[in-house]
Amino acid sequence: MALYKTRAIAIKSINLSESDRLVTFMTENHGKVKCVAKGARKIKNQFWAALEPMSLIHLIYFGKEHQSLFRLNHSDIIESFQTIRDDFDKLYTGIYFLDLIDAMILEGHREVKVFSLLHQSLAALNQQSELEPLRRLFEIRLLSLAGYQPQLEHCVLCRKAPQNGLISFSYAHNGILCNSCCRRAGSDIQFSTGTRNYIKKLLEVEIKTCERLKFPKGQTDEIEKVTHRLILSHLGRELKSYPFIKNMAEL
Ligand SMILES: [Zn+2]
Repeated sequence: MALYKTRAIAIKSINLSESDRLVTFMTENHGKVKCVAKGARKIKNQFWAALEPMSLIHLIYFGKEHQSLFRLNHSDIIESFQTIRDDFDKLYTGIYFLDLIDAMILEGHREVKVFSLLHQSLAALNQQSELEPLRRLFEIRLLSLAGYQPQLEHCVLCRKAPQNGLISFSYAHNGILCNSCCRRAGSDIQFSTGTRNYIKKLLEVEIKTCERLKFPKGQTDEIEKVTHRLILSHLGRELKSYPFIKNMAEL
């Protein structure tokens, strides 16, 4: 048996029995981990609050190496991100981030950068009021950390630089296409150079200041069509939390 200590963020929590819960964590040192929390449904205290999804905690758990299920030993809240929980738009955005991590990240791999992306994005979500840049940033950076960063510099098939004007993009090839490759392979969407440059900035900007990256006028939908559609084409399905964000935006 080994004892593990790490910072972690709970991403999912489900009831296992009358008294036990199964909690999935994104940990800083050991990647995505599933723990059984014995008696967690009975104890209404700090221990319980620390198992709420989205909280940043100190986590101690134990089990055999290379097994898929561990036993929770102790958890202490570092930051509960209360401002996110008090605002529906922020809450659904946070849940969407957790769902994306759960769907895209496999257990058993050390993922320090994914933990850092999630931690910094929740901290930004807790503070920022303009949420759209952060949502797009989270999508494109998670795709990139998972090995699916789209090719935006040059044609993904022949490496020719794109011409000015509308740029053709293929989801299947995960990159932009030059005019001749586009005629041959066919593209899924076309977008402006402004959209391409904006997405490149999302990959580089500091997360805590990303709300200053104002969308190029009239291109909010165009940018979503690239980053969110890339998520869809990668996962093959829409996550349940995403329609809530869209509904909130229409209210
Ligand atoms: Zn080409």
